[in-house]
Amino acid sequence: MISDRETPVFLALGSNKGDRLEFLRNALKGLERGGFRILKVSSVYETEPVGCYDDSAPYFNAVLEGRWQGDAESLLHLCQSLEQAAGRPLDHAPMVARELDLDLLLFGDQIIQTAHLTIPHPRAAERSFVMVPLYEIAPDLVFPDCGLRVTEIYRSLLPHDGISAALCRIF
Ligand code: AMP
Repeated sequence: MISDRETPVFLALGSNKGDRLEFLRNALKGLERGGFRILKVSSVYETEPVGCYDDSAPYFNAVLEGRWQGDAESLLHLCQSLEQAAGRPLDHAPMVARELDLDLLLFGDQIIQTAHLTIPHPRAAERSFVMVPLYEIAPDLVFPDCGLRVTEIYRSLLPHDGISAALCRIF
């Protein structure tokens, strides 16, 4: 039973440093321990780094759907605490390898623009490493800012260069 106060949330997970699968698995455990209710997790995909230094290692990426009872900022804090626990400093340099990257893609149908948060995530709809796993678990989801369904965005990004076939499941 979903309580009225829960918001449907989609998160993106990525890791391109160390034991990448283990960091993603630990992120799921940490989210659940922090009160996030996970409903669906996509397969893991291996992807070429985008917007990183040329010699950056490939990522493992996945997305998940869950429910959160607090506001978006409180979920961002949980995600940032998990990134730090994985070894990533809060004031990390941009474009460098990271043990764990957690992004809030969608928070219900809310459009949020604060000092710390932009939701829907501003680059989600440009990134195959987000849209390929999102299409796997939520093809009919609508982005509230542009009004497009995930299927439409997914098709607009074809042929999805730099993304492996689904590798494995972690949930
Ligand atoms: P990144 O290097 O991608 O982990 O970016 C982290 C920074 O992006 C943090 O300072 C967040 O406050 C900010 N940010 C803005 N919008 C989002 C979002 N939708 N999800 C996660 N972080 C966000």
